[in-house]
Amino acid sequence: MAKKRILTGDRPTGKLHLGHYVGSLKNRVALQEEYECFFIIADLHTLTTRPQKKYLQALARNIYEVVLDYLSVGIDPEKAVIFLQSAVPGEYELNLLLEMLVTLPRLARLPSIKDMARAAQMDDETVPFGLIGYPVLQAADILLPRAHLVPVGKDNEAHVEITREIARRFNRMYGYVFPVPKVMIGEVPTLVGIDGQAKMSKSLDNAIYISDDAKTVEQKVRRMYTDPNRIRADIPGRVEGNPVFIYHDAFNPDVNEVNELKERYRKGKVGDVEVKRKLARALNELLEPIRERRAAYEQRPGYVEEVLREGTRRMQEEAQETMSLVYEAMGMPGAALRRALDEQLPFSLLEFAGS
Ligand code: ATP
Ligand code: MG
Repeated sequence: MAKKRILTGDRPTGKLHLGHYVGSLKNRVALQEEYECFFIIADLHTLTTRPQKKYLQALARNIYEVVLDYLSVGIDPEKAVIFLQSAVPGEYELNLLLEMLVTLPRLARLPSIKDMARAAQMDDETVPFGLIGYPVLQAADILLPRAHLVPVGKDNEAHVEITREIARRFNRMYGYVFPVPKVMIGEVPTLVGIDGQAKMSKSLDNAIYISDDAKTVEQKVRRMYTDPNRIRADIPGRVEGNPVFIYHDAFNPDVNEVNELKERYRKGKVGDVEVKRKLARALNELLEPIRERRAAYEQRPGYVEEVLREGTRRMQEEAQETMSLVYEAMGMPGAALRRALDEQLPFSLLEFAGS
């Protein structure tokens, strides 16, 4: 039996961070044997909040970094298809067709879209149509390879729900083409940033990047937000909701050490300095092999491009197959005309009407 498929990915707005790692990347690496994987670098999604030329000029570099991040965490391009969204014509085509299968209020109500708009300093009057349509384009991403499973962070759960609704609607109206995909949330659904205030995000300057060097990780951990009431090491501290302990739980494999630190912290018997030093060590132990792989890939000129080129070619093929199924199910004469033009065949509307 053919393997089931995964689709997930990232916007090339910067390098990837620990939130991506626990939210989605770790699942991707773990599942790449069992599933046929498609990982999208969603540059069109970047346009929803950053259409300005200066951001477009940053895309090439960011795409390069994200592919390197993928390779360095252990995504294997022999197994997984890594592709660039805007280079796949099917993305634009399917997006438009799916737009007809969801209502505007359904999209406009989504808190995630409101959050993104707010973060980009947009209000109800200035939010672009394309940002409201973000989840529809995401549905196109997911349905184009006819994926079964979507490993994402918690903030994307509601979007996958919209994809499910659209897939069901399409299948009901036109006949079965799309599996209804399931969402898979990472072991840390939303990792908080080092500021302790919001989710870790490329856009908020509160991230530890998986490509940060050991010194940078130490510095960032040192300035991490902890229990603000604890001005001295002998004051009992709060472990629950404390970002430093959230990170210990997420990244320190030495459970005994973590439990012992929590005990002492609660009793006011350990300083923040020690707790943070042990966290920085655990993070650097996790990141060191990733850094080494990154450095090795950086030594291979043209390799990142080769991976992206081959992945995008594979996805284009896949997209073409899906789009033929879509057009056939919908019975669109335009698709038949297009094929006739491509293959220099005759085309008759009346024949099509009778078929
Ligand atoms: P931006 O600030 O540009 O939106 P981002 O850091 O939110 O960037 P995205 O590209 O929007 O990253 O998200 C890519 C994937 O990573 C999604 O599946 C998202 O759910 C997941 N993700 C992002 N941030 C976190 C986080 N802090 N914790 C868990 N998962 C996350
Ligand atoms: Mg985001």
